[in-house]
Amino acid sequence: MNVENYNRNLSKLDFYLKKYNARHTYLKGTPLIISFLVTNKCNLRCKHCFYHETIDTGNVSEALTIDEYRRLSLSMDNFLTGIFCGGEPFLREDFHEIIQIFQKNNKMMLADSASNGQYTNRIVSQVEKILKASPKQTYSLGLSLDGFRDTHNEIRGLGTFDKVLETWAACKTLKRYYSNFELYICSAMNTINENEMSAFIDWAMLNMKPDKISLIKTRQEPRAGDEIKDINMDNYLSCIKTIEKYTQQLDSSILEKPQTYLLSSVNNYIFDGEYCNEKLFTCYAGLHGGFIDYNGNIGVCEVLPTIGNLRDHNMNFKELWNTYLATERRNEVNCNQHCLHCTHESEGLLPSIYFPPNSLKYERIKNRPSNRSTGEC
Ligand code: SF4
Ligand code: SF4
Repeated sequence: MNVENYNRNLSKLDFYLKKYNARHTYLKGTPLIISFLVTNKCNLRCKHCFYHETIDTGNVSEALTIDEYRRLSLSMDNFLTGIFCGGEPFLREDFHEIIQIFQKNNKMMLADSASNGQYTNRIVSQVEKILKASPKQTYSLGLSLDGFRDTHNEIRGLGTFDKVLETWAACKTLKRYYSNFELYICSAMNTINENEMSAFIDWAMLNMKPDKISLIKTRQEPRAGDEIKDINMDNYLSCIKTIEKYTQQLDSSILEKPQTYLLSSVNNYIFDGEYCNEKLFTCYAGLHGGFIDYNGNIGVCEVLPTIGNLRDHNMNFKELWNTYLATERRNEVNCNQHCLHCTHESEGLLPSIYFPPNSLKYERIKNRPSNRSTGEC
């Protein structure tokens, strides 16, 4: 790959980020990346699920309606990325409409969602509607696979692995017709699957050919208990290396885009942080990232206490995002006890990694010592 081209692309990205950043100097504008949990309904009861309390006890009928999403979008500026998950997002028959609203009203360039992949027909038909409606905006679907068949089924339930493969095959067909479709594997790592995860990623890259693999470290308070979070970080490092092996095989035009290193960089920050027993990134949640729960509660991220509910503010995001309480919550970012060892990929690292002192430069990855367990913090 040509390093000069890479640096040129990085400068272009910096230019746009600075322009975006200027919007946030006085009034807190709409963040770059917003995470939406569109439902608390789920057909599975996975062992690693951190949303289980809301799934078990939350009131499903409190979910924001399509009209409320429309009003919400009209109160927001344009933003880059929306992450739409749940629960199982495709359980909402109007899921595609939610995404279309933000694509149209907020020029959202990337919509990303993760699904447990159990409803093949429903997923394929909704994904196709999204892809057809906005051919210039990317839709990225992650199907969850947490290891080989027996392990995945142990974590998510009998028969779930084969069902995901069926959905995967159907989605692959869509990829032939829609260039705005990105299909990837989302794997949550914990003590149940840690020993085989690297081998599984290797197998999946060769046999399923995903556009990428998103490796998530099980976090917060999983249904099966905190102990399943306690993985051996050598296993995590081995997964990073496997993913990077495949990244290096990509075309040079892709390798020259800084965003190609985004997920690897996120994983490296997590590895380094766990190794040094401290959070090594500066979190920009509340500024460049925000969280909107299924019932309209909003927060700087899903971990810190909420700022308030959109319904109490006539669905006006900017009004609620600029209240006194919002400022107080924002001031807690990086200082709250939950932040000290945060490994939150989607709401912590993703909206933060573009901004200094964080970095997604590939050199960071390239220069990692081959055996970190002998390295220094
Ligand atoms: S991890 Fe996802 S699929 Fe599994 S129970 Fe939780 S929300 Fe549902
Ligand atoms: S560091 Fe983690 S817990 Fe703290 S605000 Fe950021 S995402 Fe939330």
